[in-house]
Amino acid sequence: MKIAVFPGSFDPITIGHVELVRRAIPLFDKIIIAVGVNSQKKYLYTLEERIHQIADVFVQEPKIEVDKHEGLTALYCINKNAQYLLRGLRNASDFDYEKQLSQMNHIIGDGVETVFLISHPQYSHISSTLVREVIKGGGDASPFLP
Ligand code: ADP
Repeated sequence: MKIAVFPGSFDPITIGHVELVRRAIPLFDKIIIAVGVNSQKKYLYTLEERIHQIADVFVQEPKIEVDKHEGLTALYCINKNAQYLLRGLRNASDFDYEKQLSQMNHIIGDGVETVFLISHPQYSHISSTLVREVIKGGGDASPFLP
């Protein structure tokens, strides 16, 4: 059984995340969307809100599971018997960061392989960080949200 973990903050989940997951569904038997809990981080949406938003989007998808996750992603993968991590690449700065993360996770995570999907061009400008700015500034973020 091929199990992938898609870790992230998802604060909030955007149509960029959704597209990535939809493209990954045929590749795996199960994808666990692992919503990050980090006491040092200040979120716009609570953990429960973020989990609900994601679960709503994928309610019809039997391969998708939504969970919370605290601590090291690599250890979470071992715990869940997941052999794969799923991540998206939008641009060169994503690449530089993700390359390091993937190499370290491979060591800590007992050989866990990160699978990258390159974002389709119509989604590569979308980030949760900027969506939060739009929401905080009173703008309409609906074009970026599922
Ligand atoms: P993190 O805090 O771990 O970066 P995010 O929720 O911002 O969490 O992102 C989780 C994953 O989703 C990352 O791999 C990121 O590259 C990917 N991602 C975010 N936005 C997009 C997008 N618009 N298109 C493709 N992948 C994306």
